Amino acid sequence: MLEPYDLCIIGGGINGAGIARDAAGRGLRVILLEQNDFASGTSSASSKMIHGGLRYLEFYEFGLVRKSLAEREVLLKIAPQIVRILKFCIPHVNAPRPAWMVRLGLFLYDHLAKRRSIPGSAILNLAQTPLGAPLKNPDIQGMMYHDCWVDDARLVILNLLDAERKGAILRNYCKVVSLARADDLWRITVKPQMPPAPEITPEALSQPIPEMIHARAVVNATGPSVQSLLEDFKLLTPTTPRLTLVQGSHIIVPKLYDGDHAYFLQLPDRRVIFVFPYGPYTLCGTTEKPFDGDPRLMPQGVQASEEERAYLCTALNQFFKRQTSPQDIIADYCGVRPLFQDAHQDVSKISRDYHLEIYSNEPHTAPNPPPLLLSIFGGKITTYRVLAEEVMEKILKPQFPHIGPSWTAQAPLPVCPYPLEKNKNIDEFSDQEIRDMVTYFRTQEWAKCADDILTRRTKWGILASQSVRETISRMFNAS
Ligand SMILES: Cc1cc2nc3c(=O)[nH]c(=O)nc-3n(C[C@H](O)[C@H](O)[C@H](O)COP(=O)(O)OP(=O)(O)OC[C@H]3O[C@@H](n4cnc5c(N)ncnc54)[C@H](O)[C@@H]3O)c2cc1C
Repeated sequence: MLEPYDLCIIGGGINGAGIARDAAGRGLRVILLEQNDFASGTSSASSKMIHGGLRYLEFYEFGLVRKSLAEREVLLKIAPQIVRILKFCIPHVNAPRPAWMVRLGLFLYDHLAKRRSIPGSAILNLAQTPLGAPLKNPDIQGMMYHDCWVDDARLVILNLLDAERKGAILRNYCKVVSLARADDLWRITVKPQMPPAPEITPEALSQPIPEMIHARAVVNATGPSVQSLLEDFKLLTPTTPRLTLVQGSHIIVPKLYDGDHAYFLQLPDRRVIFVFPYGPYTLCGTTEKPFDGDPRLMPQGVQASEEERAYLCTALNQFFKRQTSPQDIIADYCGVRPLFQDAHQDVSKISRDYHLEIYSNEPHTAPNPPPLLLSIFGGKITTYRVLAEEVMEKILKPQFPHIGPSWTAQAPLPVCPYPLEKNKNIDEFSDQEIRDMVTYFRTQEWAKCADDILTRRTKWGILASQSVRETISRMFNAS
């Protein structure tokens, strides 16, 4: 048997990536296995906010909001290359909440956690600011506050790059197909997968990995699949918590306004949607709809419905002068939130906080307890780093007492040598520059097909011309 790993992480979304980085940096032998591309699950389908969650105050989630607000400052400091401060305007028109309530929420938002670089909130007369100009009814009161914005998939990749530098073994397109106890270790069976649009032969796919590996501890960071994975491997127990899966869709539409600020729109049904600047377009989301599909079939099995697309257009049309119809939608994307199930029936009220569940099928006093298997239920992109730190400090440290201290709050994430801002049109790069970048993504960032580059290593997807797409695909074919 090959030397067992200390830690095997199943799932290469933001939570798996954050744990891999933290654990490798503390000296553990780490392997991370992802069945598709890294960040191909929920972690590339988010609203991309690093935020406290103003709306969660309504449900008295003060602990989660405080933790998340504080994380904005940390992530701004360690990843300024992909995290930036974003100004939000709240037009207060036909709002389901009284203005005093929103102002009270903003006061708490300003004061629940220490702010260093993030400005506080303010009241606005929208008629007197350019923020009111694109609105149908600018002659109203509004409020302004700040959160942060991040390129979600790149945050995953930067964490993985750092994890690899610190010794972690990382494999995309490697699915875990079985997980079973082997004395005081876990035995993990791995099956290589083909990318959805394979431009290369399976042999060229990735560095070989043994079909079977062993690990002293396993983290199940499979997001929406966390429960089905336990079920498939017969590791569900009567006390395992349940997940609620909630689908959320975004639409990308022709630009509704100039400026690099966002809007927080309160809808008559009490839901809130966000509107963001998105290069030459506007991004809007999200819906919240119970997901009753099979998480094992994601991301292919999840799509924005016509109803969701129409709902978002109607919401935009209530506020903006420029009207949008579903026919105007340039692109959409959809993700599934894995929410730790609590007593709430209304999906928008279920907590966005995470829960760490240790597998146990025997009493703690049993002479031969199972090796550590930790499952992550719920969470946000915003809290991935504190989640990883908690996993290390509270759960892995007792098992690996020699590990190093917490370190990720100070250590900067790596910087990509190429400019990836989505507002630089890919067609402005020369053929040679594109070739160089593709080579970089393939050799340094594990890209296995054109889609890995166009939708996750970069957000060029909807901006790239057919000829650029073909150039990138040809580069994979040529190898
Ligand atoms: C619409 C929407 C908007 C959101 N907006 C925000 C936001 O603005 N800010 C914020 O902080 N949070 C936001 N979130 C929440 C956030 O996106 C998620 O909590 C987070 O991305 C979950 O990350 P994860 O790593 O747990 O799961 P995922 O990113 O889904 O990663 C799990 C991975 O496990 C892999 N996997 C599954 N089974 C196996 C297997 N057998 N073998 C190997 N790999 C496997 C999957 O392929 C997947 O890549 C949003 C979520 C949604 C849906």
